[in-house]
Amino acid sequence: VEENNEKAKGPVTGSVPKGKEPEWDDNIGYFIKKRLRVWCRLPNGQWGIGKIQSNSGDEATVSLSSGTVIKVSTEELIPANPDVLEGVDDLIQLSYLNEPSVLHNVKHRYAQDLIYSKAGPVLIAVNPFKDIPIYGNETLTSYKQNAKDSPHVYAIADAAYNEMMRDEKNQSIIISGESGAGKTETAKYAMQYLAALGCGNDGMEYEILQTNCILEAFGNAKTSRNDNSSRFGKLIEIHFTASGKIRGAKIQTFLLEKSRVVQLANGERSYHIFYQLCAGAPSTLRDRLNLKMASEYKYLNQSECLVIDGVDDGMKFHKLVEALDTVQIHKEDQEQAFAMLAAVLWLGNISFQVIDNENHVEALADEAFNSAARLLNCSAQDLMLALSSHKIQAGKDSIAKKLTMQQAIDRRDALSKFIYADLFEWLVVQINKSFEVGELMITGRSISILDIYGFESFKNNSFEQFCINYANERLQQHFNRHLFKLEQQEYEEDGIDWTKVDFEDNQECLNLFEKKPLGLLSLLDEESNFPNATDLTFANKLKQYLNGNPCFKGERGRAFGVCHYAGEVVYDTNGFLEKNRDPMHSDFIQLLSSCGCQLLKLASPSSQFGGSESSMQSVGTKFKSQLFKLMHQLEKTTPHFIRCIKPNAKQLPGQYEDDLVSKQLRCCGVLEVVRISRSGYPTRMTHQEFAGRYGFLLPETNVSQDPLSLSVAVLKNFNVLPEMYQVGYTKVYLRMGQIGTLEEQRKQF
Ligand code: ATP
Ligand code: MG
Repeated sequence: VEENNEKAKGPVTGSVPKGKEPEWDDNIGYFIKKRLRVWCRLPNGQWGIGKIQSNSGDEATVSLSSGTVIKVSTEELIPANPDVLEGVDDLIQLSYLNEPSVLHNVKHRYAQDLIYSKAGPVLIAVNPFKDIPIYGNETLTSYKQNAKDSPHVYAIADAAYNEMMRDEKNQSIIISGESGAGKTETAKYAMQYLAALGCGNDGMEYEILQTNCILEAFGNAKTSRNDNSSRFGKLIEIHFTASGKIRGAKIQTFLLEKSRVVQLANGERSYHIFYQLCAGAPSTLRDRLNLKMASEYKYLNQSECLVIDGVDDGMKFHKLVEALDTVQIHKEDQEQAFAMLAAVLWLGNISFQVIDNENHVEALADEAFNSAARLLNCSAQDLMLALSSHKIQAGKDSIAKKLTMQQAIDRRDALSKFIYADLFEWLVVQINKSFEVGELMITGRSISILDIYGFESFKNNSFEQFCINYANERLQQHFNRHLFKLEQQEYEEDGIDWTKVDFEDNQECLNLFEKKPLGLLSLLDEESNFPNATDLTFANKLKQYLNGNPCFKGERGRAFGVCHYAGEVVYDTNGFLEKNRDPMHSDFIQLLSSCGCQLLKLASPSSQFGGSESSMQSVGTKFKSQLFKLMHQLEKTTPHFIRCIKPNAKQLPGQYEDDLVSKQLRCCGVLEVVRISRSGYPTRMTHQEFAGRYGFLLPETNVSQDPLSLSVAVLKNFNVLPEMYQVGYTKVYLRMGQIGTLEEQRKQF
């Protein structure tokens, strides 16, 4: 009510001596003296909360909430938050923003099915691994009508939509997190909300939602971490009209995992579509494609995992066909696509026999071979040649060189991967065609949702992790820069004198990847072009040129390490060169362009069949330019960040593993947000809130004043040191720990 009044009065600032930061952590002495609650590391590595009973010198006796009493070094005690802050919506409200407090707060909420929390501008979403009734029409409507404002993906989508309409500025929702954390589900809820807000008369919003079903069928698979794991990154731009109705969409995909088509780890599956097709195809289609059960195909049966608990692949196939119809993919094209899938499956069953005493092989002309040739619509002879020989250009002529067993198998698999990747690309092109509405990006009325793999650090990290982590490094920089901008903006807008705090940038790590000619990607390309190079010579080259770089760590043998923002990762260069080259045999291009399959030719005529520049590019370089394009696009948007957290590795409800969660909070930058806020004034309350909560502590004479003056009076009355607070136009800003002191006074009252 008095907001304008306050503004007129101008800010009152408690001065902070520039360049001299008060020491926040010091007040543990106060905690000990006052016997307040503290966190301490237990012998099992977990955090325990308790009260200090006594202390002597460097050691304190702490009585834990569990009843046990332990002795710990006072250095290891960490302040816990007062009760009043238990389970707050936004972590920034905590007076002590340390790791155990953040962890505890998120856990406390999770136990009550409050899976969403905020960390300043970032939404944290903890995967419940069970259905909770917070996504229906009712909830949706209450967010739409602003009747609800607790943290939710709907609230983020709502904010993005409103800001877009208000500022005519493109928005983005950037979702990250590790495999199984809930990114794709979260993205779908965001889309659902936007579809509800922007629904018009043409049913476009329904079509857009249906793309999820299609892309998941072709791009998701069961892995050991997630029964429905996305094996590609995705950006969907949704465009709106001036009146806020959906008018179109565009999908971009990144780095599909091709190897899954031919090779599976035990217990994992290939792409859902293969099993759906085998289980759900109607009998006429089965006959035309000579389709068998999934168990009869080597590409599918190798991992001894053909079904997913609770999933009916046959039914999913029907849903898929419905979705394909909805996005207007013609029946003939659908059938072509299914034929390509069947061709891939039959290719996997092709075997080879030795034909001479030099161990050269030839494909067996059996059912698998003939089915593949027929489905690809090419002659048996052409397929035989493509699978059993390798053409070498010698001047104007080409010589066919025979292959050995392993070479032939690799070649067959390369062909399968190539067909599948092309099919996937074709599908995306078709979907986009059905949504295309002229020049889209210039509207200023779009919301892009990015669902992309989070940072990965495994026991064994290969080229895939290398690319994924590089992408995350770029996204992290985007995140940091945005966060700082916001933080600074808030202080400045509220008239606060903020001594700008330097922040750690990850530019150095990005340079390690991107610098020319001496960066990881350049050196990889250079080595990929040497015919005699091996993974070991590559590793040695890195060590030779990059050893001085602080983000680079030379490791033994073929390995090297990179210090990422989320921690150090050791990469094994095994397979790097081959994966980076991703040889697109010219023989395949010839084979497929001679075959009668229109679909593969339609996919990307210039890049695949014309031998243009991009088909000559290495995978790393192509990915880098895709990433640059993405970043460029995102930079033109107002970002909204969602960090998904996987609370346990078993995909089970109700289980929250502290270590796993804190690792992710660190990796996805949530603790970084917390760290940033820590360097400023973590507690912020409007004058109304502050005066309302503490004003009554003042002697009666003060009560008639306006909230701002009351706030100042409270601060003075309780001797809060001037360097511990600032008073802005609308809010009181308090340094770490101050709110606890005031709460104590309040309790004693
Ligand atoms: P990946 O990187 O492997 O693609 P992801 O982060 O996209 O993983 P999801 O596929 O979205 O993970 O989620 C994994 C599973 O977790 C879902 O299939 C679903 O069972 C469950 N899940 C995720 N979010 C929710 C939610 N909000 N409510 C209920 N269940 C959820
Ligand atoms: Mg996913």
